Parts: sequence; structure tokens; C-alpha cells
Amino acid sequence: MTLWTFLAAQPAYLMTLTALLGLLVGSFLNVLVHRLPIMLERQWQREAQEVLGQPTCEHERFDLCLPASRCPNCGHQIRAWENIPVLSYLALRGRCSACKCRISPRYPLVELACAAVSLVVAWHGGTGMQILLLLLLTWCLLALSLIDIEHQLLPDVLVLPMLWLGLIANAFTNFVPLPSALWGAIAGYLSLWSVYWVFKLVTGKEGMGYGDFKLLALIGAWGGWQVLPMTLLLSSVLGAVIGLCLVRLRRQSIGTPLPFGPYLAIAGWIAMLWGDEIYTSYVQLLGF
Ligand SMILES: [Zn+2]
Repeated sequence: MTLWTFLAAQPAYLMTLTALLGLLVGSFLNVLVHRLPIMLERQWQREAQEVLGQPTCEHERFDLCLPASRCPNCGHQIRAWENIPVLSYLALRGRCSACKCRISPRYPLVELACAAVSLVVAWHGGTGMQILLLLLLTWCLLALSLIDIEHQLLPDVLVLPMLWLGLIANAFTNFVPLPSALWGAIAGYLSLWSVYWVFKLVTGKEGMGYGDFKLLALIGAWGGWQVLPMTLLLSSVLGAVIGLCLVRLRRQSIGTPLPFGPYLAIAGWIAMLWGDEIYTSYVQLLGF
């Protein structure tokens, strides 16, 4: 009996394992979301200095593994037992074990959110390979959303490999037929690219970033062109509602740029998992 046939026959084990995996991956996403933008910024700085012929400034090694995580306030090195998802935060009562300064609740919240969305994917079902691939996509969309919220950036280094993986996944596991995935990637990119240029020609402003086109291409590569209309509609509604709430709450002006990536990611994820059900309910509601 393979691990998957065992887990498929024991949903309780599958859910427990998925929740634990989600917490661990959430802990890694905290590191990724914090460090990747800094790594990219340093890389761009180095490249710019090389192009300008300026001496490049040497930093100590900084990647996803090194240096070890430290308390930003006192520099205390986080030990293994202080790094257990959620539990360590609760045991330390949300404070650094050395200087007692507050640790942001964002870290356990990201871990819990990651576990929750992972559980939804496992509960949604599919073959073992389909669930694994969808988990990977879900974690990547979560990371991209968090980076975009903080830095207004959707790094190519995450988006492009996931776009290719979507096409490859559809060549083997058939979330959608491969031609649908291919046209999904093309139409996803071109639809927002067109909106961008129409908006720019009419208003002279840039309404969204190139990262958004690539993200929609990624969603199309995974879910096929069929998920694109719902993704665009849902993300626009989410963007308008949440954006207006944020403008009210933070008293920002309407012109303040807001990242569109998280809305696309959430909408694309929902459309991919429940697109057919939502569409059928909508058609029934209209009485067709
Ligand atoms: Zn400290």
C-alpha cells in the first residue's frame, strides 16, 4: 500500500498531515517573504553598479538559509525551539525570549493562514499528485500576495517558474486540457497588458504593473482560459470593496496605488477550485 492510498482511505490522517505541513511551509514563507525582496534589491544594486562601472559594495552572505534568524531589536539568535510554528509564539507569549520586545503576530498568522488554505486544498480533493501540485500553487500565491502587499512587487523568480510548472502540470495531470492552459497563459498576459496600455494612453498613468500580467498568465496556465473571466471579475470586485475599505480606514487618497496582485491571486485560486460550482449556481440563479 502506498502512502497516498493509505492517506486517501484515512481522511483524518490526510488532514492532520496537511495542517502540519501547512504550518511548516507557513514558517518558511515568513522567511521567504522577508528575505527575497532584500536579496533581489541587493542583486539589482550590484547589477546597476556593474553597469555604471562603480565599485560593488560587498555584503555578508544573505539568502534563504543564512544568516540565522535574529530578533530585530536585540540581535538574539532564534533557537530551534523558538522557531516551532505558532507554538513557540504562544509559549513565548509573543515576546523575544532575551529582550522581551513584542514579536509581530503576523508570523503565527501567516503560519495559520497557510495551514488553513492547505486544508481547503486537501479537502477539495483530487489525486495525490493533483493535491500536491495545488498545494505548491497555493503556497506560491500566498507568498506572492504577501510580498506584493508589502513591496508592490511580484518577483519573476517565483512567478515565471510557476507559470511553466502550470503548463507542465497540465501536460500530465490534466487540471485542464493542455491547449486550454496554453491559451490561458497567453490570454491572461494579453488581457491585462491591453488594459494597461489603454489606461496609459487615455490617462497617461500606469494603472498596474507588469507583474500583474504575468500573474494572470500563471493563473491561466494552471486553470485554463476558462478561469480568466471569473478571475478578472472577482478580483475587480474584491479590489474595489477592499480598496475602498482601506482608503476609509487609513484615510488614504483614492489615487494611492494599491497592489492588485493579492486580489488576482485570491480570485484565481477561488476560480480554479470552485469555478464550475460558482458558474452553475449563477446560471441556476438566473433561471436558465
Ligand atoms: Zn530581542
